Amino acid sequence: MQYFVYFYLAVDYLCYKIKTMTIEQLYSRYKELPLISTDTRNIIPGCIFFALKGEKFNANAFAGEALERGARLVVVDEAQYVADERCILVSDVLSALQDLARYHRTQLNIPIIGITGTNGKTTTKELLHAVLSQRYKTFATKGNLNNHIGVPLSMLAVDESTEVAVIEMGANHQREIAFLCDIAAPTHGLITNVGKAHLEGFGSFEGVKKAKGELYDYLKAHKGILFLQGDNPHLQEMEHARHVEQVVRYGFSGDNDIVGQLVNANPFLTITWRLTAEKESIHTVSTQLTGSYNAENILAAAAVGNFLGLSASEINRGLQEYTPTNNRSQVVKTATNTVIADYYNANASSMAAALDNIAFIDANQKTIILGDMFEMGDESSVEHQKLVEKTAGISAARKIFVGRAFYAHQHTDAEFYETTDEAKKALQAHPITGSTILLKASRGMAFERLMEML
Ligand code: ATP
Ligand code: MG
Repeated sequence: MQYFVYFYLAVDYLCYKIKTMTIEQLYSRYKELPLISTDTRNIIPGCIFFALKGEKFNANAFAGEALERGARLVVVDEAQYVADERCILVSDVLSALQDLARYHRTQLNIPIIGITGTNGKTTTKELLHAVLSQRYKTFATKGNLNNHIGVPLSMLAVDESTEVAVIEMGANHQREIAFLCDIAAPTHGLITNVGKAHLEGFGSFEGVKKAKGELYDYLKAHKGILFLQGDNPHLQEMEHARHVEQVVRYGFSGDNDIVGQLVNANPFLTITWRLTAEKESIHTVSTQLTGSYNAENILAAAAVGNFLGLSASEINRGLQEYTPTNNRSQVVKTATNTVIADYYNANASSMAAALDNIAFIDANQKTIILGDMFEMGDESSVEHQKLVEKTAGISAARKIFVGRAFYAHQHTDAEFYETTDEAKKALQAHPITGSTILLKASRGMAFERLMEML
């Protein structure tokens, strides 16, 4: 009994000491070796492990394992997991991670480009990384780490030698972008576009505009520089409502500061761009991207690169080098077909853009395979129906719709399957050959199973 009391007194003392650890103190521990981990499967020796909680897990319980695997410190928020002086007890691990990232940002005196938008964030971010790396030591968000955990982790991966950072910010509810801006403190920013996605969280398209517009609010309040797709009426309206002081416009019509033109998209994009201020020089760039919708992402990267002082040849070299991965508008030549593999995600606006693109492509034979869009809320049925109607206007050898939402709108001029497995069987029975195929769906449709058949 006595030992128990001593034990609890000791833990209590430890907790008291640790609870009073200020963010500056935690920061100085981080600066000794700035490595962070939140997953015991990816412990880098010497890192600080943040024991986050999720709906289905509580990483506090893995704090001991993290130490065994080589973590130098663990940050927990349940006293029972404080084993020794290597355990830092805080009131909330997630907040501690976010606070640490926010503090780190205040210590960095570099431009940070914040990117949000409904579609094309990762692509634009990667393009910008490729472009800015031609001149500067550039950090960009890894993969899709764009949420309330990913943005802090991204910020904490920016080191002292970094000259410019590109941070992707995602959102599926209001105030999220404002919160992420508060952590990353972008000096420059752009919204790629606004469209119908995550309607369950945003409520409506107006809700999407309001939420994404929080980036413009931040830039206005902090005298940041906004890069605006000047031909996009929604983005224009959002900017007009706020009057951001410094705006650089890019787009395809003549009244932008940087004007692009799509030259070719069969299937890879070639575009020209020129600065309105220097009418005579037109720059041409052939990219490894497909999808006419990517032209604006390319132009956005050129606009930011130009603004940050890169030469046209540096910008074009970066744009040329970038090759998409992870089934985001990736062109995959299989033994029998050319597949536009775009089943990493889907929403109403990216589906429409992908259909416009396949309609534009000049190929002997085309096939369209679309799968359900998730998280569409009340508008799900009508948005699926609109896509079925839009597809009817495009000439293609086969049109295949997969998933229950599409299935509800079936008609006789196309093939409809309730599940990916059923579609797979149909492709087994009637294979597609010699075709240019658009393969697009929400991630949850597991279209990699259809990819195997193409
Ligand atoms: P996420 O919300 O998953 O982070 P994201 O905004 O990062 O998505 P990307 O991963 O760059 O977007 O692209 C996903 C898909 O969105 C692409 O494969 C393409 O279908 C579509 N897309 C990309 N850019 C645009 C654009 N400018 N307009 C419309 N659709 C686009
Ligand atoms: Mg992304």
